[in-house]
Amino acid sequence: MTATTTTVSRLARNYAPLPVTLVAGDGAWVTDDEGRRYLDLLAGYSALNFGHRHPALVAAAHAQLDRLTLTSRAFDHDLLPRFADALAGLVGPLLASGPSGGDPLVLPMNTGAEAVETAIKAARKWGYEARGVAPDRATIVVAAGNFHGRTTTIVSFSDDADARTGFGPFTPGFRTVPFGDAAALRAALDETVVAVLLEPVQGEHGVVVPPDDYLPAVRAACDEAGVLLVADEIQSGLGRTGRTLACETWGVRPDLVTLGKALGGGILPVSAVVGRCDVLGVLTPGTHGSTFGGNPLACAVALAVVDLLAPGDVQAAAAARGRELGAALDAMADEGLVTGYRRLGLWAGLDVPHGTGRTACEAMLREGVLAKDTHGRTLRLAPPLTISPADLAEALTRTTTALRTL
Ligand code: PLP
Repeated sequence: MTATTTTVSRLARNYAPLPVTLVAGDGAWVTDDEGRRYLDLLAGYSALNFGHRHPALVAAAHAQLDRLTLTSRAFDHDLLPRFADALAGLVGPLLASGPSGGDPLVLPMNTGAEAVETAIKAARKWGYEARGVAPDRATIVVAAGNFHGRTTTIVSFSDDADARTGFGPFTPGFRTVPFGDAAALRAALDETVVAVLLEPVQGEHGVVVPPDDYLPAVRAACDEAGVLLVADEIQSGLGRTGRTLACETWGVRPDLVTLGKALGGGILPVSAVVGRCDVLGVLTPGTHGSTFGGNPLACAVALAVVDLLAPGDVQAAAAARGRELGAALDAMADEGLVTGYRRLGLWAGLDVPHGTGRTACEAMLREGVLAKDTHGRTLRLAPPLTISPADLAEALTRTTTALRTL
């Protein structure tokens, strides 16, 4: 453990990191500046689903660095159609096809928040053009407890006081309903609503998994009302839940999906919206864009990410490790070390009986295992999906030891 320098540096104080300074990473392990090794159970908030410096991803990045890194979208580059085809091939079959069918489209961006902003813009424009919603009246229904990013529009529909306070005036056009309550959602769908935007599992809210009948009921309500279902799978997607998309757990096909984090292989920010061609098709030249979105380096890494996910082995490993995680969490609950937990795949939110999620993470740090609190007494475990059974067992033994000290 090292004394962090951020409190005395010129860095803005918008984070309160644990007191550790990392200098190297390899798979599920990281090393600090004093040579101490830790098992990483945060995995970059699921941006490191394949662990630190996965050889195939690093090789793809190296090869592309020697060829072409940036063109801007003023010019095409050779990897852009390959990336779009590969991502549409992986995710497209899991999405709704819409009334007129057609192949799904892919719109590449960089950060998760940008992908969410892109989905909001596309849904609104589609609502005006395809649904005839009155100008500037489009409404998007969101869930209480959501986390979709940090931009001004996105914090406009957050109910987290820290995320919102002091940042108004806010963007109108959002309506919040309780998460997990399909009847409340259905009641909120009036003629102005163009989309429902949800995380299938609320990661930042403490890995909140909805009741099994929730997302199918949301899908049915959206279909009846002619409203888009937009799934934010930036944290839940790309293997985390033991499936390519968390929505698959309940057999639900969203109209649009936002992806990010792991899409960049833990190397660089890569995000995308994938979905119905009649919806993303409303975005025409000049209406939306990004200098770095879909750049050659990003496409090279994201293509390698899709290659890793295409056979399904990573998802299967996540499901298997998830069952091992579940057994360990049951034992922790039996011992009274956690008052409750929620888990889907290799992803869990734990509620601790004493102290805070933060003090729990500090105790874990002392035992050589890294995690991060979400809110209050909740911490999240999200190891790399590629963690070995032995390393996961070691990490959970260390976690149990740490929680006993609280
Ligand atoms: N959406 C979800 C579900 C997230 O968990 C996050 C980040 O935690 C985001 C969006 C925002 O992603 P980014 O931090 O890359 O903007």
